[in-house]
Amino acid sequence: MNTRENARGTRRRGQFIQILGIGVNIADQTGRTVFGRLGLMILMAWLFLGVPDLDHLFLPILHHRSILTHSILPGLVFLLFGRSFGAAPIAGAMIGISVHLACDMLSPMVGFGQVWLPAPIKAPLGPFSYFWLGGNALIGYGIAFTIASMTLPSAIALPFIIALSGITGAAYGALNEQSMASVVVSVFFPAIAGTVVWQRRQRRSGVNS
Ligand SMILES: [Zn+2]
Repeated sequence: MNTRENARGTRRRGQFIQILGIGVNIADQTGRTVFGRLGLMILMAWLFLGVPDLDHLFLPILHHRSILTHSILPGLVFLLFGRSFGAAPIAGAMIGISVHLACDMLSPMVGFGQVWLPAPIKAPLGPFSYFWLGGNALIGYGIAFTIASMTLPSAIALPFIIALSGITGAAYGALNEQSMASVVVSVFFPAIAGTVVWQRRQRRSGVNS
């Protein structure tokens, strides 16, 4: 390799690192402003609505309604990126997943309706599927609400996250599931999670005062 090619290679590597740096920087800056955080939460809530059903792509290993994708686990993928994205995308992802899981609870727990363990076991959880879906949905909402109250100004945190959960859930229930029951559970779950977080906050402010 001559010196000119060497220089070109070095320059390209430099450009690549620069572009990578700009990308991480944009994500970092977006997560730093309140407006950016709100945007990331909304975007991820909508993107993650469909994520639990990605088990269809891995059918040799996973069964549909896999216990791995029908859980809060996919929402934790942002932890792999460390601090560069902040906590806001996790909050959004948890809402999308929780809406999906809450709506999945409405189908009868037989056949594909149940939650399934991955290969080589590939056995269904039976009626325990209700507890798995409901428990994960509640934990997901709980995490989202907690992150929102930690990262958003206190005046807007709870109203925003309840509105995001309710609107995302109602839209998913009405448009994707086309069932009134889906709309009802999608609003019911965030209402419970919101009440729990609100009560805890009231208790804490009672202790502090
Ligand atoms: Zn599903």
